[in-house]
Amino acid sequence: MEVGVLGGGQLGRMLALAGYPLGVRCIVYDPAPDACAGQVAPHLCAPFDDADALVQFAKGKQVITYEFENVPVATARLLEAHAPVRPTPRALELFQDRLLEKQFLYAVGIPTPAFAPVDPDHPDRALSEVGCPCVVKTRRGGYDGKGQIVAHTPDEYLRAVAQLGSQPLIVEAFAPFEREVSVIGVRGRNGETRVYPLVENHHRDGILRLSIAPAPDSDALLPLARGYIERLTAALDYVGVLALELFQVGNQLLANEVAPRVHNSGHWTIEGAHTSQFENHLRAILGLPLGGMAARGVCAMVNLIGAIPPLEPILRIEGAHLHLYGKSPRAGRKVGHITLCADGYASLQERLSVILPR
Ligand code: AMP
Repeated sequence: MEVGVLGGGQLGRMLALAGYPLGVRCIVYDPAPDACAGQVAPHLCAPFDDADALVQFAKGKQVITYEFENVPVATARLLEAHAPVRPTPRALELFQDRLLEKQFLYAVGIPTPAFAPVDPDHPDRALSEVGCPCVVKTRRGGYDGKGQIVAHTPDEYLRAVAQLGSQPLIVEAFAPFEREVSVIGVRGRNGETRVYPLVENHHRDGILRLSIAPAPDSDALLPLARGYIERLTAALDYVGVLALELFQVGNQLLANEVAPRVHNSGHWTIEGAHTSQFENHLRAILGLPLGGMAARGVCAMVNLIGAIPPLEPILRIEGAHLHLYGKSPRAGRKVGHITLCADGYASLQERLSVILPR
């Protein structure tokens, strides 16, 4: 079985690795010659708008998928004429644009912070809808906290709009969240939908640093999150893994962002769940039965950002699993992650304190 993967970063790499035991061969498509998935899978290196290369890529593939959501929609639509593309290119279209994303969430009844598009000629109108404090964001192209500014006063808001203003913008009310969590779900071709336990996420400088799975004290929230995933995926006839980033405010969950793909906050599932998110994504898009989503014990996933630390102390930790992505270190770049597994939160904290001393 051959699967084409648009994008050859670490997510494509982990998809390819998950394919081997299943007899699934992933071939990645990425314009970057040094795309790190190319170290573990065949790599077609061509621009996303090269129609000939795309048609060539589609040949012999059971299905084509994507590992990042900024693949041009036109690329996915062109490929659709030659092989099934799952998840649907419509998901790319919606979730590349924060305004379309929020409008879609609203339409399917999933609560979000109040939001409004910013009219560059009348920025005050959007502010009067959401109030301060607020977050001004570019509609497109933002990731890892880039392209967004928090404003506490109307003056700060106007400055933020001026600073980001050459691109279409959205403004959102600042959510007074207790913590950030995410839910990762998978929907099969027959419509069966399953979710992993909720994950608690900690960011620094807008980049995910640490995930704890299952999120402590989150059992009561899971049915709510599962309902969101079911509504979201059914509305799109979505097939594959999808992640929903959420703000927890009391016992409410407000949606922040949808990723129509495998997700960084799901890396713990490789060792910590019965079936990893990568394997479940391949199973779903190939029409195979979905695998178990329950956690085995508890996990902490720590991203390695910008540099690879000394490996020996990490590898000495009981229950530590190291993943390096074969990328050259650069400031702010995710170069690997460590998943720590334990039987309970107390021993997990002990192991974590070796990596993240307080
Ligand atoms: P995003 O790129 O939209 O995922 O945002 C990156 C981070 O900024 C989130 O993980 C939050 O920590 C913070 N953030 C984004 N939007 C909001 C919001 N409306 N209210 C509070 N914090 C936010």
